[in-house]
Amino acid sequence: MLDALKQDLLTAVTYLKDQKIRFLGKGSMTIVDRANNLIVAEPAPAFPSSSIADMLVVDLSGQVIEGNGTPCTDFLTHLEIYRAFPTVSCVVHSHAMYTSAWAQAGRDIPMYGTGHLDFFKEAIPCTRAVTSAESESGYETSAGLCIAETFQKKSISPEDTPAALLFQHGSYIWAPTAQEAANRCVALEQIAMLAYLTEKINPEITGLPRNIIGHSE
Ligand SMILES: [Zn+2]
Repeated sequence: MLDALKQDLLTAVTYLKDQKIRFLGKGSMTIVDRANNLIVAEPAPAFPSSSIADMLVVDLSGQVIEGNGTPCTDFLTHLEIYRAFPTVSCVVHSHAMYTSAWAQAGRDIPMYGTGHLDFFKEAIPCTRAVTSAESESGYETSAGLCIAETFQKKSISPEDTPAALLFQHGSYIWAPTAQEAANRCVALEQIAMLAYLTEKINPEITGLPRNIIGHSE
């Protein structure tokens, strides 16, 4: 069932592993089949997955329809992102170092250069903290709702800026395809590192001026 999507997922997660984007295997990736309301997910723990036979097919309630094991604990966060952003077909969750440093610091990643613009049209927004009451009712679902709330409150397009920092945690990145999501995940880590270095070299730096926007590549 859904073998083509399973292969897409396996190829993308293997790419992320090769890019060393996953700290000790932390992170997760899923693909949704919107026509059938099914999600292809890695089993927990995420690695090693070496065959499409390892991949799970899960319904929107989190019940495993095919495969052995359970989906990642943050599956419910992925689910809320799919609900909030109907054009998204693949979600990646990453604990990559520089991206997670910005998330832990509770700061948006500012747009300091044209390399940022190549992938994201605005600063990468960081969510508010998940409250203790929200955590008690379900941290993962609340985290996904926090991401959706951030985009709505700041009027950010999830298509133009397809990534969010989850405060005190890590990042979520999404795309219409698995490989595109994986590429954006790698790009985000590079952008996070560049932004950190930019502020180190020049603490007075401000965001990219409007006249530069439109001149990426
Ligand atoms: Zn996580």
